[in-house]
Amino acid sequence: MIDSHCHLDFDDFTDDISEVLERARNQGVTRFLIPGTTPSGWQRQCQLHGQHDDIDIAFGLHPYFLQQDNEQALGSLEQQLAHAADQAVAVGEIGLDATVDVPEKEQIAVLDRQLSLAKEARLPVILHHRKTHHLLLARLKATGFDQGGVIHAFSGSKEVADAYRDHGFLLGIGGTVTYSRAKKTRATVAAMPVSALLLETDSPDMPVCGYQGKRNEPVRVTDVAAELAAIRDCAVNEIDAATTNNYQRLFSSN
Ligand SMILES: [Zn+2]
Repeated sequence: MIDSHCHLDFDDFTDDISEVLERARNQGVTRFLIPGTTPSGWQRQCQLHGQHDDIDIAFGLHPYFLQQDNEQALGSLEQQLAHAADQAVAVGEIGLDATVDVPEKEQIAVLDRQLSLAKEARLPVILHHRKTHHLLLARLKATGFDQGGVIHAFSGSKEVADAYRDHGFLLGIGGTVTYSRAKKTRATVAAMPVSALLLETDSPDMPVCGYQGKRNEPVRVTDVAAELAAIRDCAVNEIDAATTNNYQRLFSSN
């Protein structure tokens, strides 16, 4: 089983990263993907990647952490991808977030540049959305981005899911589906072919149902898998095998 989205470089994990990884490995988690958020985070990711064979990393500028002037950070990303190209399995976490203070126009400019860097590097992307599905789909279309990727923490309708799949994207399934109130997303996920899905936690955020208010961690990806199996009325093993396969297909170009 793979946690395809966990921020293990964040300070939340500095004190007990070894225990966090062991807890997950003991429950059958075989791989962890740490998406990038800021230039200082990339350094910590490289360090963790060097220390643990089962940690994959991606570099990107997360919309939540953008500054007023992002030229310098974009330059750093270009350099990082050039120098550490063999280390990155994707460009991300990138995207558009309608709840942050950075103007939409600026977010779009930064996203487009990162899509073009990913295309140059022939890497898939990890896309972040918050109330921005229509805008993200428009950018994928306008830029002609064709390397595929994953929609992190997917939530939404079958129409939206299908539109992303038409662009070659998988859907990242996390804690959201463990809440019975997420009716629309649960119905969408039940209707998707299993070949379209990845498992994730978004640790330390997005706790699964029953763990609200606590730090999320990769071992909880087993709860996401169990819930997904229940929603789809299939065995957890089937979810595990298919999502692991999907992960390898998407990120194994390196
Ligand atoms: Zn994230």
